[in-house]
Amino acid sequence: MRVLIIGAGLAGPCLAHGLRRHGVDVELFERDPAIDARAQGYRIHINGDGDAALRAWLPAEAYEQGLATSCRVGGGVSVTRPDLRHFTEIDLPPDAGGITADRLTLRRIMLRDLMDATRFGAGFSRYELLDDGTVRIFLTDGSTAEGDLLVATDGVNSGVRRQLLPGFSATVLDDRLIYGRTPLTAQARELAPSPALEGFLGVVGADGRRLALAAQRFRRSPTDFGLPAADDYIMWGVTAPAGVYGPELFQFGAADLLELAARAIADWDPSLSALVRLGEPGYVVPGSIYVSERPEPWTPTPVTLVGDAAHPMAPAGISAGVALHDAGLLASRLVSGAPLLDAVRSYETEMLEYGFAAVATATRNYAGDY
Ligand SMILES: Cc1cc2nc3c(=O)[nH]c(=O)nc-3n(C[C@H](O)[C@H](O)[C@H](O)COP(=O)(O)OP(=O)(O)OC[C@H]3O[C@@H](n4cnc5c(N)ncnc54)[C@H](O)[C@@H]3O)c2cc1C
Repeated sequence: MRVLIIGAGLAGPCLAHGLRRHGVDVELFERDPAIDARAQGYRIHINGDGDAALRAWLPAEAYEQGLATSCRVGGGVSVTRPDLRHFTEIDLPPDAGGITADRLTLRRIMLRDLMDATRFGAGFSRYELLDDGTVRIFLTDGSTAEGDLLVATDGVNSGVRRQLLPGFSATVLDDRLIYGRTPLTAQARELAPSPALEGFLGVVGADGRRLALAAQRFRRSPTDFGLPAADDYIMWGVTAPAGVYGPELFQFGAADLLELAARAIADWDPSLSALVRLGEPGYVVPGSIYVSERPEPWTPTPVTLVGDAAHPMAPAGISAGVALHDAGLLASRLVSGAPLLDAVRSYETEMLEYGFAAVATATRNYAGDY
C-alpha cells in the first residue's frame, strides 16, 4: 500500500511513522519550502490522547527525545482579569495528562527520520480518482504522484477537504488573534505573572479581549539531540474582536503587529503590554479562529481527512491532541488487514463522533464555559 499525506505539521508525520513501522510506503508533501520556513515556534499542549498516540506510533527514540525536550511545567491552567489581582486555577480532569512541547522542536524530531519520504515546497493543488481505485495528486511544483490513499493533514484551510467536501461548513469567528513569543530573559520573567511561568494563564477582559500566556522552558536543550538550539521563551496570544485590529491585520509587517498586539491591551496591567513589546518580530503572526459543523456522512473514497483538516475548532488546548489521536486511529485501521475502503469508513465513522464532540467542547471552553 502507498499512502500520500498532504501536510507535514503534527498529524502528518505521526501518521507517516505509524504506517512506516508496518511496512506501508508513505510520502509526505509539505507546502512550506522548509520545516522552519514560517514562524511557528509556539508552545503547544498536547492532551493525553495525543500524547498516547505519539508514544504508540513514533519510534521509541523519537518519543523519548520529544519528552526530553518538552516543557518543564510546574503549574496548571489559571485565569485572571486584566488587573491581575486574583488568579483562579481551573480544575482539570484528573486524567488530563499530556505533554507540552515547542511545536517546531517536536516537528524536527518527528520529521528527522522521515526526510527521505518528505517533499518540501510541494503544495497540494487537486486530486483525481483513477479508474483502478487509486488516486493521483497534482502539486504546485508541477509534479504529480499516485497512491492507494490520499490523507489530508493540511490543517484548517485544507485544500483536500475543499475538493472532497465542497459543502463543508467552516466558519471564521469575528475574533482575530496576534500571537508571538518573548525570550525568557530576566526582564521578561519579572514582567510575567507567575502562573504563566509555571503553567498556562488566560487573562480575560470583559469586552472580548483576551491574552494567553505560557512559558516554554525546555527540560533539556534540543542541541543535546543534535537539533538546532532553542531558547526558553514565553508564548503569548492576544485575541480581540476584529474591529480592535482593523481590516488590514493580515497586511501588517511584524513590527506593526507587535505594536498592535501591545496596544490592544494597553489599558490592562502595564506589565502585560510591556511583555508583548519585548516579543521577537520574527515570530509574530496574525490569525483567525475557525469553528466547523459536522458534515453529513459521505461515501468513503481513497481520500480522507485527519486533524484540523477534518474538524477545525476554537483554540482550547485540545485540537492538537485530537489531530494526533486521529493519526493513530487511522494508522491502526489501515494496518488492520481490512480492505482499504472498509478501514477508511471505520476510521471516519469513529473520528467524526469524537472529533465533533471535541469541536463542541472547544467552543464551550473558548466561550469560558468550563
Ligand atoms: C499559537 C497557537 C497555539 C496553539 N496551541 C495549541 C495548544 O496548546 N494545544 C492544542 O491542542 N492546539 C493548539 N493549537 C492548535 C494546533 O496547532 C493544531 O490543532 C494542530 O497543529 C493541528 O495539527 P494538524 O497536523 O492537523 O495541522 P497543522 O499542524 O496545522 O499542519 C498542517 C500542515 O499542512 C501544511 N499545508 C497546508 N496546506 C498545504 C498544501 N496545500 N499542501 C501541502 N501542505 C500544506 C501546512 O504548512 C502545515 O505544515 C495552537 C495553534 C496556534 C496557532
